[in-house]
Amino acid sequence: MELFDTVFESEHEQIVFCHNKDAGLRAIIGIHNTTLGPALGGTRMWPYATEEEALRDVLRLSRGMTYKAAVSGLNLGGGKAVIMGDPRKNKSEALFRAFGRFIDSLNGRYITAEDVGIDVNDMEFIFQETENVVGVHQAHGGSGDPSPYTAYGSIQGMKAALQKVFGDEDLSRYSFAVQGAGHVGLHLVRQLQKEGAKVFITDIMEDSVAEAVELGAEAVGTDEIYDVEADVFAPCALGAVINEDTLPRLKCKIVAGPANNQLANNEAGNELAARGILYAPDYAVNAGGLMNVSIEFEGWNHERALRMTRTIYYNLGKIFDIAERDGIPTWQAADRMAEERIEILGKLKMPFMGKAHRFPGRDRRH
Ligand code: NAD
Repeated sequence: MELFDTVFESEHEQIVFCHNKDAGLRAIIGIHNTTLGPALGGTRMWPYATEEEALRDVLRLSRGMTYKAAVSGLNLGGGKAVIMGDPRKNKSEALFRAFGRFIDSLNGRYITAEDVGIDVNDMEFIFQETENVVGVHQAHGGSGDPSPYTAYGSIQGMKAALQKVFGDEDLSRYSFAVQGAGHVGLHLVRQLQKEGAKVFITDIMEDSVAEAVELGAEAVGTDEIYDVEADVFAPCALGAVINEDTLPRLKCKIVAGPANNQLANNEAGNELAARGILYAPDYAVNAGGLMNVSIEFEGWNHERALRMTRTIYYNLGKIFDIAERDGIPTWQAADRMAEERIEILGKLKMPFMGKAHRFPGRDRRH
């Protein structure tokens, strides 16, 4: 692997390799783009088989954060970090504190949060070394669990899609096939049921399905979910669920849900459009979690989080407009909206903003 060529290709601003032999730390921080603000994105701990795999993952994930923040109207850039190691075996206080010091050394250019393999206890150690952490516990004045806000935001995205397709967004008139009853999925089911919607649910975990059924949802099999006659298919579990096998089976008019990377590839997004199914781009729909943590900069509170999360409705509306304006599928319209915002706001910044200069030892007075 040609390291610099790979980084040039992905257009990253900065890659930081973090290592500490005593603590067993091997981590990479990827800062993709800070045009709009500090790069924000979680830290993932994963037993990557190779360093190349870890680097590719951090490049892909941090780039994704740039797009998510930009399309969501946030003044944030895109970043992400990966720690190489098995979260069940290789965690220690020293590891996370060593990592926290690296984050601190970036002087706020990168702000971290929880991601796969990292829990609130690990974050506490990182937090001891740097202020540049969000998603901390509410006991520390943080925003806590993002999943209710992610679910609430996803509902705003669904409403925008319903408005676009049916000209009406009263949830009680529609049916939803929800795939995954985890943290976000269960909140989503609860909120949809409260609005009087018809909800189908599936999960590989029986107890999660049982919880959703108790809320009023109807259980279907994990494979059956693709064939359900529902207006909206809402992926809340895995990525790549819209693919060549599932596409011909979908009966829905809309795909909108919080799961990351729902499209197996761009062709799957094109095919949805060709089949007359409106795709609400995942990273715009699921931005409620990011919006929620971003409020920690100003002082987090619930009302402010809900208010910001409601903007997802308008963001989706703009994406649908761009798709129509340019005659392109919605996945591409979301990317374009993000790129346009970065470009225009980047141009507003003057190269040198001016400051009061000091020249010690010189004196203009006569
Ligand atoms: P989670 O792990 O709590 O829930 C995922 C659920 O999916 C689990 O209950 C799991 O059993 C189920 N599942 C796994 N494989 C399945 C399958 N084949 N069929 C049906 N169900 C299956 O995760 P979460 O935090 O609820 O996140 C769900 C999705 O939303 C993920 O893609 C995540 O990246 C994305 N997301 C979450 C947040 C957040 O705030 N938690 C924010 C943005 C995006």
